[in-house]
Amino acid sequence: MPLNASVGKMTFTMTQPNAPPYIQCCHHAFYLDLDGTLAPIAEQPEQAAVPQATRDLLVRLSDATDGAVAIVSGRSLAEVDRILAPLTLRASGSHGAELRGAGETPISQVPLATLRAAADEIGRFAEPKGLLVEPKPTAVALHYRTAPQHADACRMLIETMARSASELRALHGKMVSELTLAAFDKGTAIARFSRTAPFKGRLPVMVGDDVTDEDGFRAAQAQGGMGIKIGEGATVARYRLASVPAFGDWLASLLA
Ligand SMILES: [Mg+2]
Repeated sequence: MPLNASVGKMTFTMTQPNAPPYIQCCHHAFYLDLDGTLAPIAEQPEQAAVPQATRDLLVRLSDATDGAVAIVSGRSLAEVDRILAPLTLRASGSHGAELRGAGETPISQVPLATLRAAADEIGRFAEPKGLLVEPKPTAVALHYRTAPQHADACRMLIETMARSASELRALHGKMVSELTLAAFDKGTAIARFSRTAPFKGRLPVMVGDDVTDEDGFRAAQAQGGMGIKIGEGATVARYRLASVPAFGDWLASLLA
């Protein structure tokens, strides 16, 4: 609920934080975004790391839910595993296109030639500008955190390419635009996990910080669960926590 507040002569609008309630872990399944949720946002994507205290919480959460914890990330599964190593959790990578722990994505559904051609074109655009191109098994990401002056050009390139191929779509996150598969998103990942043990029959809790998490919030709430948005920005999520540490504190309170 927006609140008007006055400080001195300035009047501004604050968003009333709507903190998630205490919930019993044993009745819920947890779907957790990685970057900006478990790992603080890093200058370069390869520098992202999950603090040891958060890893300990993930292990305890997994124990408390009979393993109903899945990482739901835009990164590839291989990258998710690298960042969490030696921890290996159930996970969806590449915005729902890769799943582990709820059946595999048939490779025939992935238009590999289209993605490879797209990666080549994005590479030719990125190289002279010093932008980072990250090829994924089912997507191509164009990062512009190190050169934000190219943000509009990056977004336009990805939008234009997505419009030219029906099996692809554009996704714009924080300092990154990517071409990914139109058939999958974080919501389809949650729907698939929810059909199998240990997730089946539990109320989903989706936690994320970015626009690509909105599909996940919708899917969780459609099943009677909850979405929790980390940080600022418009969201369909019913609840909000201010920061990565605030999410850690909430999780710790559930496990205390
Ligand atoms: Mg994120």
